[in-house]
Parts: sequence; C-alpha cells; structure tokens
Amino acid sequence: MEIPEKNIKRLNNLFDTLTIIANGNYVYVTDIEYNYSRWSQSAIEYFDLPDNYVYDAGNIWLEYVHEDDKKKYKDSINAIFAGKEKFHEMQYRAKNANGEYVAVTCIGTILCDVEGVPKYFCGTIKNHDKHSFIDISTGYRNIYGFFDDLQGIINTKKSKIIALIGVNQFANINYVYGYNAGNQILRDIGKMLQNSFGRKSDIYRMEGAKYALVIDSKTKNEVKQIYEQLQNDITRNYSFQNNRLHVSLNGGAIELNDFNISTKTLYFSLKYTNYESKNNHCGRLNFIDDSISEDSKFYLERLNCIHNCITENCKGFFLCYQPLINAKTGKLKGAEALIRFRNEKYGVVPPIQFIPILEQDPLFSDLGLWILRQAMTDGKKILESYPEFIMNVNISYVQLESGTFINDIFALLNETKFPAKNLCLEITERCRLLDNTLLKNTMDTFKNSGIQIALDDFGTGYSSFGLLRSIPVDTIKVDREYVKNIETNDSDKKTVLSVVSIARMFDSHVCIEGVETEKMTNILKECGVNTLQGYHFSKPIEIDSFCERYCNNK
Ligand code: C2E
Ligand code: CA
Ligand code: CA
Repeated sequence: MEIPEKNIKRLNNLFDTLTIIANGNYVYVTDIEYNYSRWSQSAIEYFDLPDNYVYDAGNIWLEYVHEDDKKKYKDSINAIFAGKEKFHEMQYRAKNANGEYVAVTCIGTILCDVEGVPKYFCGTIKNHDKHSFIDISTGYRNIYGFFDDLQGIINTKKSKIIALIGVNQFANINYVYGYNAGNQILRDIGKMLQNSFGRKSDIYRMEGAKYALVIDSKTKNEVKQIYEQLQNDITRNYSFQNNRLHVSLNGGAIELNDFNISTKTLYFSLKYTNYESKNNHCGRLNFIDDSISEDSKFYLERLNCIHNCITENCKGFFLCYQPLINAKTGKLKGAEALIRFRNEKYGVVPPIQFIPILEQDPLFSDLGLWILRQAMTDGKKILESYPEFIMNVNISYVQLESGTFINDIFALLNETKFPAKNLCLEITERCRLLDNTLLKNTMDTFKNSGIQIALDDFGTGYSSFGLLRSIPVDTIKVDREYVKNIETNDSDKKTVLSVVSIARMFDSHVCIEGVETEKMTNILKECGVNTLQGYHFSKPIEIDSFCERYCNNK
C-alpha cells in the first residue's frame, strides 16, 4: 500500500523537529500505518543503508544488528508495539559500512493520535563509534564508554544496579590457552552475562577480565539470584573447544539511587565491592551494603566528599599518634601515625570508613604521600627530644605497586630531613597480592637504606608466614584480636608465645596491639614481647598533645 503525499509531509515535519533536538544523533521516524520510515542521511552513509525513505525499515535494520543482540532488539521492539512498554532504550551492536560492529544506543517511542491510536514509531540512535570507546576483542563498549554513560546514569537519579563482574584467574587461562582463546572465552562469558541479565541491561568490557553491567528494573535479590545461577552454570558446565574448562566469576555491585556522587567515587566503590567478593566472599556477588553498616547513600556521599578533599591538598585529613612502649623499660620507643578525616558535616571519620575503599582509586597515592610527609614533619619535632624515636607509618599495598614509591620515600626523607633509620613502614599481608619479586626488591632497598619494616596484623591472613620468609621484617605486629582475652584465655597466651618464638627465628621483634590493662601488660612482658601499644598507655592523639605529654618530660 503506497503512502499518500500528505502522510509523507507529516512524517517529514516530525522528522525535522526530532532532528533539532537529537543533539547530533541519528533520527528515525516510522509511519506505523504504512510501515514507511525516514532515516537521517548520516545514518544512511555510515551504515550503508538502502535509502532515506524505505518501507519495512525495522526488518531492514534488523539485518544490521549483531547476531547475538538480535533477540534482545526484537524483544524490545515487540514489547513497545504490544503496548507493554512506553519507550525503548537499549544498547546493541550494529554493522557499519566497513563491516565492523559498533555499539549504538537506541531510544524510541510510539506517538499516538488523540484517540490513542499508534501513529508513529520514532527516536534517535547514538553511535558510540569513537574507536577508543570500543573494546576490540569483544565489541562491547569499554571502560571509557562506561564512564561516558555513567554520568548520565547518575544524573537521571533513577534506581539502577551497577555491577562489576570479573573472571577469576584469567591470567592463567591466557597463559595456558593463549590470547585468542582468552578473547573467545571473554566473548562467551559476555554473551552469557547479557543473556542472563536480559535486554534491560547494558554490558561493558572493563580493565582486565572484567565486565560492567548496568541493570534496570531488577531488585537486588533478583540480581543476586541470576548471578548465582550463572556462576553455577559456568563453573559446572562451561566448555571450550569441547573441553570442560574451570572458570568462575567474582562480582561486586551497588544499587544506585538518587546519589549525589561522582563517576569516580562510584567506580572505585564498585572496584572495592569486587575486590571483597574475590578476596573475602569466595566470588559471591557482594553489594556495597553487605560490607558497610550504614545506609549506602550516606556512606557513598560521605566517601565522595572525602575523595574530593584529597584533590584539595588533603583538606580535612589529620594524623593522630599512638605511642609504642618498650616493654622492658616502660619508656617511649616510637609512635604509630593513624589517619582520620574531619569536617563540619561529618565530624571525625575513622580510617576504617574510607581507607579500604579509597585504596581502589589511583588518587590514594596522593593521600599516601601526604600521610608520609606529615608524619615525617611531625616526627622531626619529636626527634628533638627523643633522638631514638621511631615513626611508624601504615603503607597500603597499592602504594607499593605504584612504581615511583621507592623514589617518593627517598625524596620525602630528603625534603623533610627525617632520618631513614627513624622510619618504620608498616605493611600488611595484603601485600601478597603484589608480585613477589617487586615486593622483595622494594623491601630490600628500604632495609639497605636503614628504613625498618613492620608486618602488621600478623596472623589475620593466611600468607603472613610466607611474607616473613621472603622479606626482611624488623617487627611483627600482633593484632588485638589475638590478645584481647589474654587475661582469661590460655590460647591467647600460647599464640603470643609462639609468635615470640617465630620472631626469634627470623631475628624480629614482637609488638602487641590493643594493650588495654596493667594485667595484660604484665602477662605480655612475661611472654617476652618487645613493644606494647594500646589504650592502657594512650589512645591515638594529635601531635600537640603528643608533644605535650612525651616531649617535655623525657
Ligand atoms: P592498624 O594499623 O592495625 O591500627 C591499629 C588500630 O588499633 C588503630 O585504629 C588504633 O586506634 C586501634 N587501637 C590501638 N590500641 C587499641 C586498644 O587498646 N584498643 C582498641 N580497641 N583499639 C586500639 P584506627 O586508628 O581506627 O585505624 C584502623 C586501621 O585503619 C588501621 O589498623 C590501619 O589498617 C588503617 N589505617 C589507619 N591509618 C592509616 C594510614 O595512615 N594509612 C593506611 N594505609 N592505613 C591506615
Ligand atoms: Ca598499623
Ligand atoms: Ca594492626
């Protein structure tokens, strides 16, 4: 049935109006009665479509849609034409004139006449083919594409679930099967994720073997269930080139609502949830609120504020110092620098609320350097009264990873004139995540320059012993958890005794944290520990109080 002239005129009017507001995106308008459409000239050229005006454009366009996305596309179009949905907004891949697939975001709706009869199907298509926005191995949008979309997602203030899902041990897969196979596996898993979460979710290929998913219209529990089902399917049934292959996932997620946070805060918080899933939850999908005790909106907005302060010369951060006491003499031996954040809106925020998450952001190294500089500057003042004073500073594994860390430390020692031999770096067993040779070389360099190394939270992880064997540790710090019941519990005492004997084998000292009473102090002295730290001696205090208390009466 040929479309009448007057219908074409109306269609053109609508097309022109849409073009004005389409912001450079392609426009399409379909007269539903005649199934007759007009498309933007730029789309005709880019995709090599037959003509600006065509009958049955839907089926023509379908030929351009990527095989794996066809079902998702058709389902979405059918849902609008069946009146089940008011508009469609989806991302899929379409083939351009060069035969390459590019990701597009298609937004469409149906316009009805006054009687409610559907007249036009129209909308826009955004082309994401800025090459750097596409991941070559999978064809999905990449991390830049993700950030490009994320701001818009936050701005809509609509409820969505954002997930960061990774493949465990992917480096091994690449190593054993080669990169081509690795890429195929990434494509397979991408497809399974897309199929499981359905057409209302958009998928991105992120750094390494990770995907981001933006999931619409699903509850947290539904998402957890889908993930669990997929995890089961993949671990039990995934085969590659007819071989069963053991692959498993890790995943973190955030339920986003009307949150006033930046894309960066959202991303490093997501990375944290993923890190937790991988390292502490055996790969189960871990939502941010599973790891925190507060409301996630409050938590993330506060984190966003703290993160912003790093870029403003670390405004609001301050250090407290907790004395380290020589167990034999009862005299001051050193202090541990402990960070806090304070501002008018949030009061004083303890480090546990921000350090583990901020560590996932590259900006953390700026804060790490600020901490070191501040601790050395304050330490200089204490050294005037106590030349043997040791300043302990906590170092995160991500700082060690940075590549410039060794130089940074020496530059700071130089700048502040703080002696290397009075500095002790506290590292934790999370350093196991680093390359062993890098860690050993870094620690050897420090040791050779006189800097001391303490192994913090000894025994809380499973690699403390391995670390002790491979790096030169001056002091083993035992976590409060192991000693808090030492007054009544014999096994706490046995634990301390065995750490003391291990330390002797490695020529290290033992420092016990969380010493809260006189009785504990005496038991620990009997066990032969070297250093004591805890509320019994002092809580962490600011530098002025510290100097007042310790520097004037040696
Ligand atoms: P940590 O390094 O194990 O620090 C010891 C924690 O035990 C401190 O908590 C300290 O205030 C607390 N503590 C000390 N004595 C007692 C006691 O007798 N009883 C009890 N109940 N607690 C005691 P804080 O300051 O809240 O720090 C928590 C954690 O945050 C630290 O654990 C460390 O992992 C991290 N952190 C703190 N400052 C920094 C920093 O400057 N850089 C990095 N990377 N992490 C830091
Ligand atoms: Ca510490
Ligand atoms: Ca500790």
